[in-house]
Amino acid sequence: MTGETSGSEPTHARTGSGHTDGGLTGGCLCGAVRYRTAGPPLRVGLCHCSTCKRQGGSPLPSFAVFRADAVQVTGETQGFRTSATIDRRFCPACGSPVYGDEGEEYAVPVGTFDEPQRLPPPAYELWAVRRLSWLDDIGALKRYEHDRNDG
Ligand SMILES: [Zn+2]
Ligand SMILES: [Zn+2]
Repeated sequence: MTGETSGSEPTHARTGSGHTDGGLTGGCLCGAVRYRTAGPPLRVGLCHCSTCKRQGGSPLPSFAVFRADAVQVTGETQGFRTSATIDRRFCPACGSPVYGDEGEEYAVPVGTFDEPQRLPPPAYELWAVRRLSWLDDIGALKRYEHDRNDG
């Protein structure tokens, strides 16, 4: 149940080019907040902690981590501080998480990139103690090209 038009990419999500300097672009669901990175991430990883799960609503939160000064954000964000060191910034219009401000580093959710396939695959998992056991079998699930009811 994605709400996407069958057989096509969602038209409300703007796409950027961002191919010139190895940088990457992305943004929130409504497009009010956009970002551009200078170059590739320092690292990409998964986090199974319950805070990341709740914020994104996903059982498998994933983040690309950049130096804070390598991410240029445009548009208004609000923050929700979940620890002394993490301010989770989101779009006040659509609620999408856009980045976690961790001081010297920003953790950007992989799903917010215009072209997430351009990121390196995750190299590590945090909070494995909270990892959902069925993730081991996810490769065996039945796959639909788009939504479940598509021919
Ligand atoms: Zn938004
Ligand atoms: Zn986490």
